[in-house]
Amino acid sequence: MREPPAPSCFMMLPVFYHPLYSSLDLPAGHRFPLQKYQALYHALRSYPVDIRTAQPATLAQLLRVHEPQYVEDLLCGTLPTPILRRIGFPWSHQLIERTLHSVGATIEAARMACQQGCALQISGGYHHAHYAMGSGFCLFNDLVIAAQAMLDEAHCSQVLIIDLDVHQGDGSASLCAGRRDIITLSLHAERNFPSRKCDSHLDVALPDGMDDRGYLETLDEALAVAFRLCSPDLILYQAGVDIHQGDELGYLAISSQGIRLRDRAVLMAAKTRGIPIACVAGGGYRRDWQALIPLHLMLFEEANACFG
Ligand SMILES: [Zn+2]
Repeated sequence: MREPPAPSCFMMLPVFYHPLYSSLDLPAGHRFPLQKYQALYHALRSYPVDIRTAQPATLAQLLRVHEPQYVEDLLCGTLPTPILRRIGFPWSHQLIERTLHSVGATIEAARMACQQGCALQISGGYHHAHYAMGSGFCLFNDLVIAAQAMLDEAHCSQVLIIDLDVHQGDGSASLCAGRRDIITLSLHAERNFPSRKCDSHLDVALPDGMDDRGYLETLDEALAVAFRLCSPDLILYQAGVDIHQGDELGYLAISSQGIRLRDRAVLMAAKTRGIPIACVAGGGYRRDWQALIPLHLMLFEEANACFG
């Protein structure tokens, strides 16, 4: 009689998380949906995924991407008020610890993806963070820091950042301008934040009110162009759900099913080409933040169906 496969034969998808993701004292009425991370974690505990505790990013990893003075000011709480205001969070030790763990989680997800094919993290996608300036709830650019760390560790030689958050990945674009080892692709609502965009390697500006059909066709074309432009051996996917028709900060009209099909398209693009992919949850903004949970969960469901 044949033996059943040993449990070690099963590869559960690694998912990185830290309790600090939802631990931050914010002023009443603050826009940032802090609770969604803990709620996502609780929902994912009933999924067949391997939830791991994220370690913080190191100073050396931050300094590979950001200006030393900016890093020091942010870590020490001496950042000039106008720059802090652009970030949108009051400074606190909690904020820094939370950010370091979140950046660390993206790095670890990227590393695990290189080793196992796919990994995810429950927060991340801080694409508005520039070399010496944060913005739009983003302090350090976890995507570029993770890409740089994987290049430094020789896990890969070219990284493609696929940014499908409704907001343009201006920080990633400016950090990677002129580089060939990190390629940036951003599909975003043209009239949305940031008002001053930076040039990604490939930008697709979408009109207000775009629906599923137009979006998914445009995504297919953009992915085809991206894979003609470069031959990445790692993909970092920013899967913001603020493209949803119910999002309070998005201008697009994508349905829940449209988000599922979007995530599936990106994951399958990676899988069919044999390229490791690390996914981060990205943006999603609603006062009724509970409504964000099923939208974000689709990424984990599709990744499990594709790679689990
Ligand atoms: Zn966004």
